[in-house]
Amino acid sequence: MDIKAPRGVRDILPDESWRWAYVLDVTAKTMADFGHSEIHLPIFEQTELFSRGVGDTTDIVEKEMYSFTDRGGRGITLRPEATAGMVRSAVEHGLCAQGAASRLWCWGPMFRYERPQKGRYRQFFQIDVETLGLAGAVADIEVIALSAEIFRRLGLKNLEVVLNSVGCPKCRPIYREKLLAHFLTNKDKLCKDCLLRLDRNPLRLLDCKEPGCGAVADAAPAIYDCLCDECAAHFEDVQNGLNTLGFRYKLDKRLVRGLDYYTKTAYEILSGDLGAQNAVCGGGRYDNLSESVGGPHLPGVGFAAGVDRILLVMEEQRCSFGKSLKKEVYVVAQDDTPAVRNAALSLTHKLRMEGIPVEQDAGDALGKKRSAKAQMKSADNAGVAWACIVSQDEAQKIVVVMKNMTTGEQTTVQPEEVARRVKEA
Ligand code: ATP
Ligand code: MG
Repeated sequence: MDIKAPRGVRDILPDESWRWAYVLDVTAKTMADFGHSEIHLPIFEQTELFSRGVGDTTDIVEKEMYSFTDRGGRGITLRPEATAGMVRSAVEHGLCAQGAASRLWCWGPMFRYERPQKGRYRQFFQIDVETLGLAGAVADIEVIALSAEIFRRLGLKNLEVVLNSVGCPKCRPIYREKLLAHFLTNKDKLCKDCLLRLDRNPLRLLDCKEPGCGAVADAAPAIYDCLCDECAAHFEDVQNGLNTLGFRYKLDKRLVRGLDYYTKTAYEILSGDLGAQNAVCGGGRYDNLSESVGGPHLPGVGFAAGVDRILLVMEEQRCSFGKSLKKEVYVVAQDDTPAVRNAALSLTHKLRMEGIPVEQDAGDALGKKRSAKAQMKSADNAGVAWACIVSQDEAQKIVVVMKNMTTGEQTTVQPEEVARRVKEA
């Protein structure tokens, strides 16, 4: 076939999808323990939500969005991230009315036009967590602890939490000037992109992956001396909280979110087993995002974790994915008489109604029924615990031979007895 999945887009095939289900199960339970409720958000939104809510000087908005005009002439974008949609929804539905706090989470596909490589796709999946309506450091600590706890329960090892503060609109301009001066004196060492960004958003230069810019960024002043009293106290409270919980983290002055509505805490969780795309999770505080998209003042803090990358790390580290859902029974029709075929069909359905995973012969691609021998071979290949061979005895009565596929032992039973025996085994 000439038609393939678009570049950067993957199918999650059946031998992988059960692992995804495991990750999401563990995630959902952890969310409940931390008091976060699941919310389902639309996959596309008005383009303006992202240009204003993510920021039009970010890579995402400048060059990575899947945007189009719909048939009604509206500017639409496939969501590149979930935070802006979460805030939009909370404001639209008054989830934080009268000073209430909302702890939410969602998961699903995000879309960014990036250069596809290991751990970087154009459709990828995120687990997204937001706490809205709380300004204090406890909310930041809870969110960071929640992300770390999901990874702990999944068995991920060799992770590093990196932490920074990006200040607020009061103190960041002072830092911005200092940074700008530093970068201007090193202008000759910067890449083309950074030279363009210099005036618009010098904080973004800290994030540049080019080696030349990296060296200049390493030598740049840190924000710590510039933080206002409020931001400095918040930063200290977050660190004290993490210390109290015994979390190890590293301060990284180059970690930024780089936009005016991101405030105070910024953090990432990095894996030593991912190569270049090493972030499994990124997050922080965004006290001014709601206002930037036309909402009321609504402080928020959250994170987004990359499900594709979590799975890459888990596979690399040979983590456990719980038990895969195995078929337990294969129903075999001994012959092709209508009585036996119907009895096999009924037995299969009844066992499924009892919650037992069952497979049966449904013919081949030409609609041809297969011999009992061929069916037994399928039972073998399916790795089931039982083959249940349906036949008619001399008195024309339907009987079932239950073959234990491990021991080879066989017992003849009535069809009604099969479910009980499978469950008791
Ligand atoms: P990166 O620096 O790797 O590009 P980012 O800063 O763009 O990450 P965020 O926007 O903070 O990432 O998204 C949070 C998480 O989502 C990342 O830590 C990562 O695990 C995952 N992620 C982001 N972009 C992709 C992508 N294109 N493919 C797969 N996972 C991604
Ligand atoms: Mg990115």
